[in-house]
Amino acid sequence: MAQLSLRGIKKRFRETDVLHGIDLEIGDREFVVFVGPSGCGKSTLLRLIAGLDPITEGEFLLNGQRMNSVPPSRRGIAMVFQSYALYPHMDVYENMAFGARLMGLDKDQVEAQIAEAARMLRLEPLLRRKPRELSGGQRQRVAIGRALVRKPEVFLLDEPLSNLDAALRSDVRLEIAKLHRDIGGTMIYVTHDQVEAMTLADKIVVMNAGRIEQVGSPRELYETPANTFVATFIGSPR
Ligand code: ADP
Ligand code: MG
Repeated sequence: MAQLSLRGIKKRFRETDVLHGIDLEIGDREFVVFVGPSGCGKSTLLRLIAGLDPITEGEFLLNGQRMNSVPPSRRGIAMVFQSYALYPHMDVYENMAFGARLMGLDKDQVEAQIAEAARMLRLEPLLRRKPRELSGGQRQRVAIGRALVRKPEVFLLDEPLSNLDAALRSDVRLEIAKLHRDIGGTMIYVTHDQVEAMTLADKIVVMNAGRIEQVGSPRELYETPANTFVATFIGSPR
């Protein structure tokens, strides 16, 4: 069974249609990358999956269960944002503990899960630092760690590298690929960067103006792009 099913998903903000009917199946443990130009609806779609915004029309199922009206905290889905949005007055440990406590975990469970997340993301030496005492790459690893502590089935990452300089970008990208191998969760990753998409994805979803243009493996998209938009975007020589 596909783990996530999007069926005819539409999103309208006031008068504006932003998503025009998204149909997609995402399998358990798949690493799916959404690519497409700025404004095509990538972040909007992630927010609907996370439950941060209501779906206007269509259905979203997780493991066969309809999620449309399930609150975000009960979906087993965690989101990592582009701007890490850490609490400046809390240290790394507290930042990671905050969401876990909101989920109702007790102190010992929170501690054990932070220890595990810190080990996986090499954050142990940084646990007592404040966000302002961290580099951009370290901050983004804390933001990922904060999501990991909640032990989600599904990770949503919205352009997690876009605020990092080039050197850090490849570090954090490798960290994310390693995390996916280690935890075996499903990853849904948004970027407008073709290189990130080609190197990370099992499956790439090319979006344009609120629609899906093509879904396929990096190789399929490169070798047999469905149209000129995909060919140009992926950079294949057609
Ligand atoms: P992307 O992440 O692909 O750059 P977004 O999903 O952020 O694109 O935005 C898609 C479109 O939806 C844009 O035209 C944007 O202006 C519009 N949009 C996003 N959020 C809102 C909102 N809360 N209210 C009105 N329009 C929005
Ligand atoms: Mg976006």
